Amino acid sequence: LGRHKDDRRQSGFTYNGVTFDQSNLNIFAGLCAVDVPEHVEQMMQALEENGQVCTRMGAYKPRTNPYSFQGHGKGCLPWVFEKAGKHGIKVIAMEITHESHIEEIDHCLEQLGRPTGVMLQVGTRNTQNFELLKAIGRQSTYPVLLKRGFGITLNESLNAAEYLASEGNANVIFCLRGMKTEAGQPHRNMVDFAHVPAVKRLTRMPVCVDPSHSVGSRERAPDGVLDVMHATAQGVIAGANMVLVDFHPKPEKALVDGPQALLMEELPAYLEDIQLCHDTW
Ligand code: PEP
Repeated sequence: LGRHKDDRRQSGFTYNGVTFDQSNLNIFAGLCAVDVPEHVEQMMQALEENGQVCTRMGAYKPRTNPYSFQGHGKGCLPWVFEKAGKHGIKVIAMEITHESHIEEIDHCLEQLGRPTGVMLQVGTRNTQNFELLKAIGRQSTYPVLLKRGFGITLNESLNAAEYLASEGNANVIFCLRGMKTEAGQPHRNMVDFAHVPAVKRLTRMPVCVDPSHSVGSRERAPDGVLDVMHATAQGVIAGANMVLVDFHPKPEKALVDGPQALLMEELPAYLEDIQLCHDTW
């Protein structure tokens, strides 16, 4: 990924018809956690209406509290993938927390005739789960979205990405999602999107930003603009190549992270603003 002295390869790759590189911009708006088919359907339909071919859908959720909803797991994969295919979604970013989930996803997609594609997401809690990284690196079917570890150095997170490449999968996107701070205020995490150009300078990975998990709320600036939107703009202006962002048709009913989800009616303006930032810079 650019951190080995002999590595001179170009950045970027194409997966399922979508190109990811250090100049493109791909938006992955979607549900933090899959809950009911109706919400998944509404999300997919809105994405299609707005010309989107990528989304995020959480089936396996790594929760801080063991009594919190842990995700529907493999049980929801068939209907999530079917709905995605029906609405022309080509890539779903989906977090996995165990290597057995790769097989579950692969088996389901195969059985359905591969109506959509999946990008395997490694969450911030697993950034240094080296055995998981090695297992994901050994497969070359699915690209990988690796989150920055929220309590380790940038260098340590970049080396974690190298675990994927050293095992054989260099189709990796690196995602900034905020850093933990003592205070946890005013945002859930310290927004770290000024590091986008640094990651692009240090590696050849496309860089993603996750404004939802960085900001963690629907707070607004005095100008009325949502902090999530301001953070997104910062990331895109800094050169981000992908945005992972939570939307939900009924945030008050969401089973995970509802308070940070944007509303469906906010999707068109959000997409337009991001495009403006990308085109201007
Ligand atoms: C997520 O994107 O659903 C998630 C849990 O993010 P993170 O790993 O950054 O906390």
